[in-house]
Amino acid sequence: MAKQAPDVGLITRTPESTLTSTGRDLLTLGTVFAALILFVGTGGSVISHALSSLRGRGGAPDNLLATAFLLNIALIVFGWRRYRDMVDEVQVRRTAEEQARQLAETDPLTGCLNRRSIGPATNHLIAEAATRGEIAAFIMLDLDNFKQINDLHGHSAGDELLLHVARQIGDTLPSGALIARIGGDEFACVVPFAPGQPEAIDRLAERLIGSVAQPVAYQRVSLESTASVGIARCDGDCGRHDAQALLHMADIAMYQAKKHGRNRYFWYETNMENELRFRSELETGIRRGLNAGEFVPYYEKQIDLATGELVGFEMLARWNSPTLGLISPDIFIPVAEDIGVIAPLSESLIRQALIDARGWNPRLSLSVNISALQLRDPWFAQKILKMLVEANFPPSRFEIEITESCLHENIGMVRSLIMSLKNQGIRVSLDDFGTGYSSLSQLRSLPFDQIKVDRSFVTTLADNKENATIVQSIAALGEGLGLPVTIEGVESEAVLHELSRLGTFKVQGYLYGYPEPADRTTEHLAELDLLADPIDASDGSMLPPAPLLPRIANG
Ligand code: C2E
Ligand code: CA
Ligand code: CA
Repeated sequence: MAKQAPDVGLITRTPESTLTSTGRDLLTLGTVFAALILFVGTGGSVISHALSSLRGRGGAPDNLLATAFLLNIALIVFGWRRYRDMVDEVQVRRTAEEQARQLAETDPLTGCLNRRSIGPATNHLIAEAATRGEIAAFIMLDLDNFKQINDLHGHSAGDELLLHVARQIGDTLPSGALIARIGGDEFACVVPFAPGQPEAIDRLAERLIGSVAQPVAYQRVSLESTASVGIARCDGDCGRHDAQALLHMADIAMYQAKKHGRNRYFWYETNMENELRFRSELETGIRRGLNAGEFVPYYEKQIDLATGELVGFEMLARWNSPTLGLISPDIFIPVAEDIGVIAPLSESLIRQALIDARGWNPRLSLSVNISALQLRDPWFAQKILKMLVEANFPPSRFEIEITESCLHENIGMVRSLIMSLKNQGIRVSLDDFGTGYSSLSQLRSLPFDQIKVDRSFVTTLADNKENATIVQSIAALGEGLGLPVTIEGVESEAVLHELSRLGTFKVQGYLYGYPEPADRTTEHLAELDLLADPIDASDGSMLPPAPLLPRIANG
């Protein structure tokens, strides 16, 4: 669909290539002019002779002179026509050149500069700004939800949104600024400013974010989008900060804005680059480590407070990286999710954990954490069942922890997943309860088997009255819904004492020791005489001996 390009009016340039054709125009014009002078020179004599001859006072004009005179007239007429033709021709060529240049330098949809032309235009602007003692800010703006709008409402809706955004940016930028569309939903602006006044750019960034957020009506829907913005300034020796470098820095700052929740702006700082480098190191490390078996399960004890007995373990993933050391899941799980390897990573950990847990006393359970992305897999329940069958591990001893924040994803899908897991005899816990704002009605409609109170309420429980009230209410809620409650993050006797006052719970935490790898866990269980007998009573089949997988030393 053809779209009207908005008149952003910010693309400044100088025409370069018209001098030669102008030269040729002048030559033709000069020829006509010379012919005119000749015409005047010969014309004076020929016409006066012709007039005298007509009056009968003299002879006819010189034949040669008359012929030259007529030829001169012809030359003037033809010359003039040639001149006009050439002017037209040059005009057509100029228009064609202008169109070709426009096509090469501008984005056809929005009429903004494009990725190729923003570089030279930026360098030109920086040089020009320097003559006024100004520097330039390179502002990168990326829409946060463009893909969803395209997927949901179609590509013409996406085009409409891009046009709207280009217009809004154009209206917001000061005159003399540049605007370019440098990718699908990415815009770049270059704005000169006084070096001591970056607040002007802060205000501009805020206005840009606000203007992009204005909804746009399309057919019968309202398209709404937000933008993440990264800003780089060309400081000090601007020569070192050419357009390409500025674009790279603004891109890094924009990535920070995305990371911190989108719909905001960040100025580039050098440490961001290190962070990005660390991130890419993590990405390659995770991919390699997955194949090299560097991800290992650690186990944290779960205790029944009423009896003081060990009832099971929560498996917590660890990455034993040869270059970075032992890495926490809080660092690598989000990256594994982003690069699309969370499912194979989690499955390989669960397989190892099932092998480990088969060596434990059959009354000990195994809980595993599951990422929200895995819940979107329609085959997830089947995959879990297959792993249980392959490991010959009874589903009744297996528990899956789903964090409260997952419930926002797609409640219908989560409900049917929980149902199919439960139909197979697997228990499902609601993890990190209290942090994700799930409603009571959601809690009632989802058939969880257990609630786990987030450790943020627990660590300071003994001296924080508010947290004690929250834990007490959750205990009452669990009782009301008939759901057992596990408290995590118990670090001290004081907290344990406070908890025994508030209700009946299962507990876990550093008070009972740090999470440990499989070999240490097995050693502890041996001391407690809680290892499995060679014959598993539940199905009568022979269990293989305890796993001989290579294990890392206790971190
Ligand atoms: P979580 O499920 O809330 O796990 C409990 C976390 O609290 C663990 O951190 C554990 O080491 C820590 N913790 C336990 N007791 C105490 C205590 O007394 N005090 C304090 N301050 N902390 C305690 P960890 O192992 O770093 O795990 C962090 C999070 O990573 C977990 O939080 C869980 O959501 C996630 N996670 C761990 N393993 C996996 C996995 O295999 N898959 C997925 N998707 N997520 C995992
Ligand atoms: Ca958990
Ligand atoms: Ca938690």
